[in-house]
Amino acid sequence: MSLVTALYASPSQHLLSHAPDHPVLYFAPSILQATAKRFLSGFPGLVTYAVKANDAEEVLENLMAAGVEAFDVASPFEMARVKKLMPSAVLHYNNPVRSEAEVATAIAHGVASYSVDSMGELAKLVRCGVPLSAEVSVRLRLPVKGAAYDFGVKFGADPELAVSLLRAVAEAGFVPSMTFHPGTQCADPTAWGVYIDSCAAVARDAGVTLERLNVGGGYAAHRTGAAPDLEAIFAAIELAATRAFGDAAPALVCEPGRAMVAESFSLATRVKAIRDDNAVFLNDGIYGGLAELPILGNTDRIELVSLNGKRDAAPIEHIVFGPTCDSLDRLPGTVALAGDLAEGDWLIWHGLGAYSTATVTRFNGYGAIEVVTTNRLA
Ligand SMILES: *Cc1c(COP(=O)(O)O)cnc(C)c1O
Repeated sequence: MSLVTALYASPSQHLLSHAPDHPVLYFAPSILQATAKRFLSGFPGLVTYAVKANDAEEVLENLMAAGVEAFDVASPFEMARVKKLMPSAVLHYNNPVRSEAEVATAIAHGVASYSVDSMGELAKLVRCGVPLSAEVSVRLRLPVKGAAYDFGVKFGADPELAVSLLRAVAEAGFVPSMTFHPGTQCADPTAWGVYIDSCAAVARDAGVTLERLNVGGGYAAHRTGAAPDLEAIFAAIELAATRAFGDAAPALVCEPGRAMVAESFSLATRVKAIRDDNAVFLNDGIYGGLAELPILGNTDRIELVSLNGKRDAAPIEHIVFGPTCDSLDRLPGTVALAGDLAEGDWLIWHGLGAYSTATVTRFNGYGAIEVVTTNRLA
């Protein structure tokens, strides 16, 4: 496999020649492959991709072309999609809650690694006949800050339970490992260090040698200000693992979703109307590709494209609404946009490849987002 051929040079070239009235998501496979190679060459261990961030086949195919061979899957659908595109793909099933039927599907797909955060779910894996050659990773949770929102609310075992679980995993005969997720859009490298130290303490207390340590996803995408320094986080992870485990350091695994895919897509929304009070109505909003903005905050990576020349008036703050008749369909606060913004202009939101199309709805008949492949996004 190699690069998917791009149809257009850039989003603005496509917008200006087609003037689409519907939202368009521009995908640059070359950027996705470059990001994958950055993880593959920079991360000191196995790189897996968390499919839920964006499960589009063209995303998976380009990651595979770039050399990604292992995937974090959460459902039978994700397993089947990955295996269809790459029968040899390694699957890590790190959704720690599963039905018996889902476990049976995982066994049939030859899942290599399962995570658990409760005794009941571990017993289920044993009862369903997961082969002992499989890895079982105990998912730890800690009250760690630094991420945009806390993943520990739903999943993870506290350290005390993690000790008994890890012991039970080893006694059951599975390959014992640990995992954690520091929370998504995590901008603080020390969050990983805190988790790695705790995993080492849990393993020590359980008297179990970890085969591997999965340091999760959570790597921040570029949303505002300067781009995050991924390599600095990789270095902090490696240092923390060496310090915590010494010579017996487990092999490391990471499972980025957001940071792998965010930068390779930009969303073009069109200005439908600017009302008398300057409120802007777009053709996409929180039920579509901008779903995450109310949770994570607005980005400042907005590019304005107009059919009628440059927009260079000083920016003013606008309230921005999505197209549906629901009053929640509004971006947080206000957004600074050119004072001469006009109906028919487009706002391109960069860095929107993760958790955008993955969660889009067709609420009120909106949300039909066309995907167009481009060479570059700027
Ligand atoms: C969602 C998820 C990820 C990916 O998280 P990002 O913040 O998108 O990097 C990784 N692992 C697990 C278990 C997840 O649920």
